[in-house]
Amino acid sequence: MSRRVLLCTMVLASSVRGLLLSRGMSSSMRLPQHNALSTLRMEADGPVCIVTGGSRGLGRAIALALGKEKCRVVVNYANSAAAAESVVEEIKALGGDGIAIQADMSTQEGIKSLFAQTAEAYTDPVGVLINNAGITRDTLVMRMKPAQWTDVIDTNLNGVFFASQAASKIMIKARKGRIVNVASVVGKIGNVGQANYAAAKGGVIAMTMSMAREFAPRGIQVTAVAPGFIESDMTAELPTEIVANVMKSIPAGRFGKPEEVAGLVKYLALDESAAYITGHCFNIDGGIAIGTC
Ligand code: NAP
Repeated sequence: MSRRVLLCTMVLASSVRGLLLSRGMSSSMRLPQHNALSTLRMEADGPVCIVTGGSRGLGRAIALALGKEKCRVVVNYANSAAAAESVVEEIKALGGDGIAIQADMSTQEGIKSLFAQTAEAYTDPVGVLINNAGITRDTLVMRMKPAQWTDVIDTNLNGVFFASQAASKIMIKARKGRIVNVASVVGKIGNVGQANYAAAKGGVIAMTMSMAREFAPRGIQVTAVAPGFIESDMTAELPTEIVANVMKSIPAGRFGKPEEVAGLVKYLALDESAAYITGHCFNIDGGIAIGTC
């Protein structure tokens, strides 16, 4: 911001503040959008947050929720460049800041590149890592090809380990940071056709507990969420007869919404009152896996 713009902004801010006070309103009260103050948007100064797979589905909702809290959000994606750029635009409109970074989370090179590009974009260290990127390659065990097994393990399990390792090196230096892993209830109760996915998500839940124990003395929290069935491109692929069967087993009688998962992740990633939570995995599943928390 130039000095002249800064000066005008400060004058405008002080006159609006005066107007509010003369009307008995605190200047910290929420103001309607599209008024003179919209030009006074404060710089996004929240933590630098990496959301892997932030271009679509749950990751998109999480990235937006963090952006709304004025975080500086790295929206990682594999292929959907336009979708990721559009998430960044939405984050900026919400008062946050962001950057879209292409990087393949199923490879160590991709993960190195993600952290290198993040360090170029933001001088502050990464404060929050949301390990969300994930894929499915569903089929019965008897039919599962080696690539269907390894693709899912590489993205959903190995990617989480290597990204968390890279983030923890940064966070240990800062003596603070939060890692939230997006697991799944399938990692706790299994699912037909998802041996690969269940193994990866179960591994993520176990990894969360181990990393939490290692990092807690260094001021870093590691938690996980275990969504049930949530509306997204991933579940849109499910055949209708499977959806009908699944629906019968969800006490809430519906799929969850990405925004509902995002609310829980935001709490674990940012909220002051979550500072004493580590190593746990929280179900958000409409009750499908009651008894497994
Ligand atoms: P989705 O709609 O298919 O979106 C997947 C996201 O992950 C996309 O942003 C995709 O990027 C990204 N991604 C995939 N492979 C990647 C890679 N190798 N490197 C970087 N990014 C990659 O899936 P979703 O339903 O939102 O799922 C998000 C997470 O929630 C996953 O970990 C999933 O297992 C978990 N989850 C979902 C549900 C559910 O019901 N939806 C339930 C439990 C857990 P591109 O857009 O570039 O492809």
